[in-house]
Order: sequence, then structure tokens, then C-alpha cells
Amino acid sequence: MKVRFAAALVGATLPLAAFAQTGQDLLNDGKTPGDVLTYGMGMSQQRYSPATQIDRNTVKRLVPAWSYSMADNRGLEAQPLIKDGVIYLTDHEKTVAVDALTGKEIWKAMIEYAPETTRVVCCGIVNRGGALFDGKFYRTTLDAQVIALDIKTGKEVWRTKSSDPKDGYSMTVAPLVANGIVIAGVSGAEFGVRGYLEGYDAQTGKQLWRTYTIPAPGEPGSETWAGSSLTHGGGSTWVTGSYDPELDLVFWGIGNPAPWNPLNRRGDNLHTNSIVAFSPKTGKPAWFYQMTPNDPFDYDGVNELIQAELTIDGMQRKVIMQANRNGFLYVIERATGKPLAVNPFVKVTWADRIDLATGRPVWSDETKMIVEKGGKARIYPALQGGKNWAPMSFNPTTGLLYINTLDFGMDYETLPAEQVADLKPGQPHYGVNRPGAYDPDQRGYLRAVDPLTGKSKWSIPFKSPNICGTLVTGGGLVFTGMMTGEFLAVDSDTGKILWQFQTPSGVVGQPVTWEKDGKQYVTVTSGIGGVYAMKSGDPNLVHVPAGGTLWNFKLFEEYAPQRTSSVQ
Ligand code: CA
Ligand code: CA
Repeated sequence: MKVRFAAALVGATLPLAAFAQTGQDLLNDGKTPGDVLTYGMGMSQQRYSPATQIDRNTVKRLVPAWSYSMADNRGLEAQPLIKDGVIYLTDHEKTVAVDALTGKEIWKAMIEYAPETTRVVCCGIVNRGGALFDGKFYRTTLDAQVIALDIKTGKEVWRTKSSDPKDGYSMTVAPLVANGIVIAGVSGAEFGVRGYLEGYDAQTGKQLWRTYTIPAPGEPGSETWAGSSLTHGGGSTWVTGSYDPELDLVFWGIGNPAPWNPLNRRGDNLHTNSIVAFSPKTGKPAWFYQMTPNDPFDYDGVNELIQAELTIDGMQRKVIMQANRNGFLYVIERATGKPLAVNPFVKVTWADRIDLATGRPVWSDETKMIVEKGGKARIYPALQGGKNWAPMSFNPTTGLLYINTLDFGMDYETLPAEQVADLKPGQPHYGVNRPGAYDPDQRGYLRAVDPLTGKSKWSIPFKSPNICGTLVTGGGLVFTGMMTGEFLAVDSDTGKILWQFQTPSGVVGQPVTWEKDGKQYVTVTSGIGGVYAMKSGDPNLVHVPAGGTLWNFKLFEEYAPQRTSSVQ
């Protein structure tokens, strides 16, 4: 198998060409608008489509082609994948295949998990999507299993148990297929897990490697944890990484240390709140870069890592970009992990700046007090971050990022250290108070951001933040959704809202666009859920009903009832 996939990477046409083609398809996904095969619409995860049929002028004719019910009231955060005229979508309890032109269900595969699984899920009973490769659809389950389904039938091909929810582990991440290996990460830093990444054989599900994000006692890095705190130290890996086939490296974000209260875990707490670059075949790390050492604020470090080539000081640099929960936008050299530009993209008070020479934050007085002796202070951004998991997009022709930001702080307070002493994996790991500090008129913006300065070229305020991915197109449009159900098309140059459609529930998904037979479509889910909807108590969302649906939009031509057979 190794040999076959290596052949695919160099474009050779050897036996098993169909298999090889699939691997090449994944690498080309960003350049092939006829399908959406990968999380992030391409290996670089730019969520950019060159498609121009739906543009600033034609978007006013955008209408629903059909909608499909997921028959469930949990949040719909998954990115749809589209291959050969079929849409594949996940939620926490099922995977479905739907005809992309008619909205008719082709197959549905249910998932069962023990009800007590939800005890270790902090932030929403959700799933963020799957991966396609070699005739199979790969996904994770809430009870920490990875499964492969036959894409034609939905029949299970293999199932691998990764961990046990009783130890605090769960899985919501969309897997990544890199160099033929299926890679997934875990959730559970709020329940004291020891985080890791895992690679599986795409054909059999055999676990090939596991790389922990936190050292075992005595290993290098264990000295960055006080006492035995590393044995329940967190460091989850719950947002999909991105793959650079030239370097043969996967980049993946690592989450917060546990518990949030920092008083019993003094030190940098490696490798929490870090980015790791590793080989997909072995899981062996090439480099780590830690953004938020000794994080008391649940800033995680898991947000998506978009690859791009940027001109910095006159030089072309291959970078990854991350809008971190901690409010700073990181531009990092892919080969080395060196930070090249780090600037705030929202209001930040926990650190004065990031020192580019060391890569470390310069803590504000409030943060110094909190990590040294505990205390209370108003801190920006809040725990949910300046940006949460919902992915941003990047337009390589304008060089701008399109980010849904969360613009509020929190009144943070540590509880006494004794209250979080002797915690065990599987128990809740918090130990802080953190009510939100909100502006009454707006809690978020959609921003067009210069990655090298963090500054917004334009921004649109929203009463509730958008916890929705963005999609940018060659037609000059940014698509995203609101918690109150509106699906929006925005002029990518000016920030003017050009079109909107009211879906039945809050939009917290990941819009994608694709083409078939000369027509461009835009696909998105509606279905409120996730951490902000659960925990904010936002009065603006009181009248937003639950209920998951999948929506497909196209340009209106003329009324033509769709008949899929002569008998209706
Ligand atoms: Ca494609
Ligand atoms: Ca967290």
C-alpha cells in the first residue's frame, strides 16, 4: 500500500490506477470545483473556490434547490463532502448520503452510543464531518471510535475503538487522510484526558501509531508540569489538521491544559496550546510551537491551520495561518514552526504582545497575577476565544482571511487551588468562574483580515457572534451563517451583505460550493447547537428553534418541478 500511494503522489500511472487516482484527487481537491473531497475544500484548507457563476450580480437570484431533514435536534456543525453527485453528511448519530441534485436520501447509517457518553462531552453533541478516500467514508463517533463506511452502500467496513469515554475521551473531529493514512484526534481536555493523535490503516482500521501531546512522567517536557499534574493534563486535538504533501508534514493544533485553573500545574505545560508538525506515516513530530504557555483561560490551540504562500519582507514564504482562540493571528513558517508575524485580530488583554524572537507571549499584569497566585480580572477574549472552531477562509488572490470573530471578554476568577486538587481523568476539570462581559449591541463580527497585521479591511457587527465557517469564492462572495438562522452572501471587497435566506434553525455549519453540469451550487447545514448556544444564555437566541436540515442553493432559472421518475 505504501508503494501504491507513493506512486500516486508523483502522478505515475501504475496498476491500481483507480486507487492511485483517489489519492491524487485529494491533493488536487482545491483545484477541482466539481467536487468537495476534503475538510477545508483542499489540502491547504483555504475554503476558496474559483467558481464565478454565482457572483456579486447574480447572487440575488440564489434560491433553494432543495432541503433535507436530518431528523435530529442536535447541532449540525459538519462540513458536507460532495463526490460524483452525492453529498455525504454526518451528525452525532448518523451518516447520510443524499443525491446532490434532487435532495433524495440514498442511504443512512445510524450510530449507537451509550447515553452516559454525553457526560464527558463539554461543548455540544456534535460531529464535524468525515473524510473520503478509496471508496470509503471515514468518521469519528462521540464514544471515541473511528469507523469506515462503504460510500456506495453506507455499510460499515471497519471500526476501531480509540479510547473509552469513562476516561474522559470523546471524538467529534473530521478525520484527515494524508499520504494514505487516516488521522484523527480526540476531545476531552475538560475531563483531564491525556491528549493524542492517531493514525490508522485506511483499508483495515489497524492503529499504526499514537503520538501523545503531553509527555509521560520522566519524559522530556515532563519538567514543564508541577507535581503529577501531567497525568490528567488535557491537550486534546479536536479540530482537523492540514497536510503539506511537499514536506510530507501534517500540521495539527493541540488544546488547553487541564484543569483550566492553573494553580496546581505551574510551568509551560508542554505541548498544550501548541501546533505540532508530524509525519503522517509515523506520527513522529518534526516540530512543536507553543502559543499559550501555562494557559489559564481555556484558549486551546486547536483552530484550523490554513496553508498559503505569502510575501513577507519581499520574500515568498510557505506558511500556515491560525486565528487562535487567544486573540492573536499567527503566521508560521511551515518547514520550521518559526512565527513570522503574530498580531491581535480582536481585543486582547491577557498578553501585551507576542515576542517574535522567542515566540512567547508577554503577559499582562492581570495574567501574571492569575498564574502566580490566582485572582479575579476582566480578560479579553473570553474562554470561547476571539475565534472558536468554526473555520475561516482565505482568498489567495486578495490575500485576505475571512473570519467570524467573537468580540467579548469575561470576568475571570480562579477558585481555591484545593478545589481542583486530586482530580482524576474522567472528572470535570474547570476550577474557575468566568461570566461573559458583553457589549449590549454586538458580540461578534465578520471580518476581512490582513494576515500579516491582524487588521480588518472591513468588518460587519452582529448581535450574536457567528459560530459558522466562512467560504470565499472567485465570484467575490463570502458565504457564512448566523445563529439566528440567516445564511448570508457578503461582498468580499466591501463587507456589504448582498443576499440572505432564513433557514429554519441557527447556522453553525461549514458552507461549501461545487459545480455540476455547468451549474454552481452552494450547500450548508442549519441546526443550532455547540458551545456558544449551550452556555452563553444569549437572549437574542431565545426564539431560535432546534432542528437539523441540509440546504442546497442554485441560481433561479425558471420554475421546473423536479420529477425523478414517471410515477410520483
Ligand atoms: Ca474539489
Ligand atoms: Ca478546551
